[in-house]
Amino acid sequence: MARHIYVHNPFCARKCPYCDFYSVTDCSCTEAFYKAAIREVELLGSVVDESTGTNPLTDIENRDTVYFGGGTPSLPDSSLICDLLKAVRKAFNIASDAEITIEVNPSSVTTEKLTAYHEAGFNRISLGVQSLDDEVLKTLGRLHDSKGAIEAIDKIRDAGFTNISADLITGVPGETLEGIKRDIKTFQELGIKHISTYSLMLEEGTAFYDRYNKTIEEYISPETEREMYHGTRAFLNELGYETYEISNSALPGFKSIHNSSYWNSCEYFAIGAGAHGFLGDLRYGHRDDVRAYIEEMNTFTSDDYKAFLEGNKSDLRSLYIEEELAQEDKMREVAFLRLRTTEGILLDEFKKVFGVEFEDVFDKAVKSNIEKGLLERKERTLRLTRSGLDLANIVIEDFL
Ligand code: SF4
Repeated sequence: MARHIYVHNPFCARKCPYCDFYSVTDCSCTEAFYKAAIREVELLGSVVDESTGTNPLTDIENRDTVYFGGGTPSLPDSSLICDLLKAVRKAFNIASDAEITIEVNPSSVTTEKLTAYHEAGFNRISLGVQSLDDEVLKTLGRLHDSKGAIEAIDKIRDAGFTNISADLITGVPGETLEGIKRDIKTFQELGIKHISTYSLMLEEGTAFYDRYNKTIEEYISPETEREMYHGTRAFLNELGYETYEISNSALPGFKSIHNSSYWNSCEYFAIGAGAHGFLGDLRYGHRDDVRAYIEEMNTFTSDDYKAFLEGNKSDLRSLYIEEELAQEDKMREVAFLRLRTTEGILLDEFKKVFGVEFEDVFDKAVKSNIEKGLLERKERTLRLTRSGLDLANIVIEDFL
């Protein structure tokens, strides 16, 4: 049994023009937010029993995980972050070998903060680099330059962290495959163990959507973007980084256990404004409203939380149920989450959990995608082919 906890830190120094994660730049309520988050942790911890928050599906590496994402968790004073982690560890009885990650930004992370995180028990850092090309960083509206990113990696290592992940964005106007390869090589030389490469998405409501939605192909055609994806992946593999999910590659022993818990349909708790969780049959979340979160958590009781998780409390200001999953929904989720992984769908595992053969449930979708060369079956696994990877969203649609 393992517990997984996601904590959303909803503050950023400036909004990046491509980002649609929930965050605010008015940080005047930062302290009140972290106080409310500790209260939420204590309330939730008091109402969940030992069997809540388990992994229903597979024999994946089964360790507790805590993940501080955002927003920019490295922006606030480190004492706020460390006190919240302390509360999480206590309330959820987190094991001493847990993977505990914090996302940090080169522009706000300092040696003092990193030392404090390390002492508090964080043992994995995810650094939002995005590129080591200053022109690309300017296009992305990032607050740091390549020198700042490299200095941040040095500081992270000096503070005692060995499990370090770095993010890159591919498909940015002006970016080239050669440039991405150069960045990856630098990461390897600097001891980065895990690399996430995200294709630039133009999300509605972002500044990039208005700027590039109609013109992106003038900068990077879909064919070039795909060449970049496969070229990046091949280069990562050449350097020993195994791609284990569409956007994630790691050296042996450094896969993200927390992220893997999502793709393995594990339950996870959600703490903080904008956080989303999955418990039992419920996908639930906190609305993107930090002030509503603070107000609600300050007046909430453990009985209120219990009632909410039992589905007996609606019309709340922050917490809400996104979806109640029936058995068929859970099977669909396994399909679309596991298809993102290179391991694919483990057919024996599926049968063990749901009591039916995957191919009986999704007969039409499996057959047609195998015929189109987008899916392949190898012994008792089903996974995307190289062409399937390019059309992953379309293949996944067939299973929904
Ligand atoms: S720092 Fe990260 S979370 Fe904040 S706006 Fe930029 S991309 Fe989004």
